[in-house]
Amino acid sequence: MSDTIDRARSLISGASHLVVLTGAGISAESGIPTFRGADGFWRVGSKNYHPQQMATYRAFCAMPEEIWKWYLYRLDLCKNAKPNAGHRAIVKLEKSFERAGKQFHLVTQNVDGLHLEAGSDPATTYQVHGNIHFIRCAKECSPDIHPLAKQNAGVPLCPQCGGFARPHVLWFDEMYDEKNYKYETVLTLSQKLDVLLIVGTTLQTSLPALLVSAAIKRGVPVIDINPEPAGLDGDRVIQISGKAAEILPEILEG
Ligand code: NAD
Repeated sequence: MSDTIDRARSLISGASHLVVLTGAGISAESGIPTFRGADGFWRVGSKNYHPQQMATYRAFCAMPEEIWKWYLYRLDLCKNAKPNAGHRAIVKLEKSFERAGKQFHLVTQNVDGLHLEAGSDPATTYQVHGNIHFIRCAKECSPDIHPLAKQNAGVPLCPQCGGFARPHVLWFDEMYDEKNYKYETVLTLSQKLDVLLIVGTTLQTSLPALLVSAAIKRGVPVIDINPEPAGLDGDRVIQISGKAAEILPEILEG
């Protein structure tokens, strides 16, 4: 294990354009359940729903109150969570790249906002699935995004047209775009990065999976930190089995 950690450390410090890709696993130790974990399910009436059924535009149109109930519950978890040692280690890494005049970008699938709260630079942090602390008009009366004011129940309303608002997140039955989710920016990064560090994701969503497959195809070193690594194939893939809040500080600060 310590050999693998040393190799990862030297690849990261030798990178001139590092991209870090994070998923729900990095926030697990802040107390936010992952989607694929046992806590992910939600009960409506007598039926259990999987997040992949709840987090859809279709479900929102069919049962807006229930969907918002689920999001307000998740928002509450996010509001009570604090960034952990993994989020903080990524901030330190970003600053060390900045001091050295090297390129650093963070692509996160998380909607909890914890990277920004930890101090990651908003200019180089791409929240490719949105941010649960924000809303936008469900009918897109305007492209504006608004902070979600305190709301304990019911459906938040669009401050512009008064119709239903939706959480500012990408749903499973929707497409990425540049304006809300930085689609083209991330595709461009996939052709430029020279080391990719992945943390805590099953890579089941398409843009993150594209980023990883492009890196592997280009022969770029890829480091995957996860208690159950995704089993990526490639000569230059390093898998480190362990928890983000333990392994990241060890690699990045060790
Ligand atoms: P996922 O739920 O599919 O997978 C989580 C991964 O994290 C698994 O591979 C698991 O083995 C790993 N993991 C668990 N504990 C870990 C730890 N301590 N350290 C490192 N890895 C750990 O998550 P995903 O791939 O990010 O996809 C889920 C989708 O759900 C994303 O679209 C994301 O937007 C959304 N989501 C976000 C949050 C959040 O914002 N915190 C939470 C749940 C789901």
